[in-house]
Amino acid sequence: MSGVIGVFSKDNNHVSPRIYFGLYALQHRGHVSTGMAVNNNGFVDYIKELGTVHDVFNNDSINRLRGNIAIGHVRYASTFEAKDKVNASPLVVGYKKGALAITLDGSIVNFLKIKDEMEDSGSIFQTDLDTEVIANLIARYHKDELNDAIVKAVGEIRGSYALIVMTNDRIVAARDTHGIKPLSIGKIGEDYIIASETCAFDTIGAEFIRDVNPGEVVVIDKDGLKTIHESPKKRSLCIFELIYLARPDSIIDDRSVYLARFEAGKQLYRELDTKADIVIGAPDSGIVAAIGYAEASGIPYAEGIIKNRYIGRTFIEPTQEIREQGVRIKLNALKENIKGKSLVLVDDSIVRGTTIKRTVDMLKKAGAKEVHVRISSPPVLHSCHLGVDTPSEEHLISSYMSVDEITKEIGADSLYFISLPGLVKACGGDNGFCKGCFNGDYPVMKE
Ligand code: SF4
Repeated sequence: MSGVIGVFSKDNNHVSPRIYFGLYALQHRGHVSTGMAVNNNGFVDYIKELGTVHDVFNNDSINRLRGNIAIGHVRYASTFEAKDKVNASPLVVGYKKGALAITLDGSIVNFLKIKDEMEDSGSIFQTDLDTEVIANLIARYHKDELNDAIVKAVGEIRGSYALIVMTNDRIVAARDTHGIKPLSIGKIGEDYIIASETCAFDTIGAEFIRDVNPGEVVVIDKDGLKTIHESPKKRSLCIFELIYLARPDSIIDDRSVYLARFEAGKQLYRELDTKADIVIGAPDSGIVAAIGYAEASGIPYAEGIIKNRYIGRTFIEPTQEIREQGVRIKLNALKENIKGKSLVLVDDSIVRGTTIKRTVDMLKKAGAKEVHVRISSPPVLHSCHLGVDTPSEEHLISSYMSVDEITKEIGADSLYFISLPGLVKACGGDNGFCKGCFNGDYPVMKE
């Protein structure tokens, strides 16, 4: 998972501060590396480094990166990808028609196949990035007009993606044919902004215009915004965006992330009534569902766990050792609220089971009488090959333990997962979602 953003200023505004603040808003989508490329009359300058927005940029670097077109990226690296600087994005390359800067959130499932074919015909690759394959595909069609070359390149890739390409005079953006990854368009004055989530627009005072449609390719240049290609298939937004990945203040495909989580909490209670003294949420993404649960049940919501705000998400730390250290320094029980009480603890998901086990243990050690765990997503049974780094199936606790066994393993007094139809209902009711990690039915198969 990554966060991508691009800005085109028709009025020649200096746009790197907007990318900078937009990347801050998207930081939850990845903190392994951060980068920005800026176009200044055909000259592309860029900075990309390992680390967060705060680590990588400062006033001097933002002032250096001057230009009216820019793209940015915050990167989460999967377990299998190298975490060195060479794999930081955006990828900036020169080809026959000038410079290209490319940034992508997602996973191209036929990436290795295309890369192999290209290497067989003499291409050399410097990174593990999907974007390098896309750059080579665009270069392959250099005899075509640039928009056509990008459309042809996009036509050859399969998977989940929100792609932004910056050239000397335009931004071209594309969303995968199923709309698995989110990508939205905003406007600030006459300037356009395109980003993984709408929370980036709010941060810089831009107005949300619309989402990029599944399979749509748009170009933003001096003439404004236009669609240059459409190849939609059945919409299958990653339902995990609504449960966990996206920020609650984002709107994705007309669905409020906050409301989806709130409704999921209400639905959890409707599916299983539980007697308890208070409802607490596991920070951060379990909080909204916990508030929904409290509203539906009439059980008061209370703060039960305090999070150290200066620690990143443990889910996106790649090794078990770091993840466990992260949990220990990240969360603390609020004894005053929980001592001697029966709790409903609402969390967004159980993946390996280690985090929830530690959380339950922490609450019990802090004096909770009972901990009833309620999860606002169904059991995660399958791994994701579409750009969310869930572990392989043998590490997914729900794939090798029953609910009763997990209850015992995590030390809870009871455990309940929302049903899949219940979750879909909470997320807006229609069925336009990828739910592959719950039911094994993926819109795009692994290659
Ligand atoms: S398999 Fe799961 S995590 Fe992956 S895209 Fe589908 S819903 Fe999202």
